[in-house]
Amino acid sequence: MSFDKKDVVSLYKLPSTVEFCKKCTISNQRPRISFDEWGVCSACNFAEYKQTHIDWDKREKELQDLCDRNRKSDGSYDVLVPVSGGKDGGFVAHMLKNEYGMNPLTVTWSPSLYTDIGRKNLDNFIHIGGYDNILGSVNGAVHREMMRLAFLHMGDNFQPFIYGQTNFPLKVAVQHGISLIMYGENGEVEYGGDMKNAHKATRDIEDHDGHYFSGKPPEFWEEHGISKSDIFPYLPPPYSKTVENETEIHFMGYYHCWDPQENFYYCAENNGFQINTERSEGTYSKYASLDDKTDGLHYYLAYIKFGIGRATSDTAHEIRDGKITREEGAALVKKYDSEVPKRYFQETLDYMGITEEIFHRVVDSWRSPHLWEKKGGEWVLKYTVWQ
Ligand SMILES: [Zn+2]
Repeated sequence: MSFDKKDVVSLYKLPSTVEFCKKCTISNQRPRISFDEWGVCSACNFAEYKQTHIDWDKREKELQDLCDRNRKSDGSYDVLVPVSGGKDGGFVAHMLKNEYGMNPLTVTWSPSLYTDIGRKNLDNFIHIGGYDNILGSVNGAVHREMMRLAFLHMGDNFQPFIYGQTNFPLKVAVQHGISLIMYGENGEVEYGGDMKNAHKATRDIEDHDGHYFSGKPPEFWEEHGISKSDIFPYLPPPYSKTVENETEIHFMGYYHCWDPQENFYYCAENNGFQINTERSEGTYSKYASLDDKTDGLHYYLAYIKFGIGRATSDTAHEIRDGKITREEGAALVKKYDSEVPKRYFQETLDYMGITEEIFHRVVDSWRSPHLWEKKGGEWVLKYTVWQ
């Protein structure tokens, strides 16, 4: 463990000067995002392209063909849909089952610490929506140690969850002989990132290490005393098995214009999806990422590393979807982005076995001087979207 200052700029290949998108609230500090010569981010440009240049009827036919190619006649599952019980996976599963006549197997990688509303929504999804579901839960003693290590070494408690979220569906697909995996949106394309797949329905399994694991795949933690058998649940199936299974990862966002707010209305109506009674900490919304108590901390750590909190991500997307203006977005960022997630703070620290003092020392080691300065004893961002 080290409390030494991290070189965030070179670790994440960030620009050393901060620039905000002229259209939304995101800055150039989001890893892998790019800005054009007019100062507009790749996600905004893609949103505009989506609204003006894509023939959605043609895309729908492509989806119909894809389903027909994968449809099975023996009653077995023909598509695997990763879901949390939330609005996005729920939308995909419902569409495929009811609009395209597919027989989906849904698969859930358990959150680290389920919230009551998250668990309820998964139950509603299974019982009201009506889907077969496999829930993957890893030994809690192993998971909390993985989470502790990830927090200490990567400044992100969420990494072990991401391993499972990425690899578990691949494993289940191989086990059940299902070639087609259908995700919701391609986050890299929709929220700003690597645009190489912007005009493709699929994702390359080879990109997983670089995009989702920050160069530290599950095996990395063997160096830190995690045994091979404890790492096993986090691993993908052998690559040869994935190829043999002819596994393809597709995104519904390629075939159907992706709109998180519309997905929410759709799932409330069809899957018994319920919103939280209170907004999520760090933002103003009540319907996104509700299921994990450790979520708030993950978003807060992104705010520390990149100056991009949860309200920034939410407003950027809503501006692109034409739901709010940039001014409204900037005001929401000012109000919520810096909020420390207190609701499950102690519970999350206890789960990881981290003291509050260590927590703050680790957090401060990730505050890059190109983003943060101390004023009157308080850490403040040097550049904000509202100034
Ligand atoms: Zn933008």
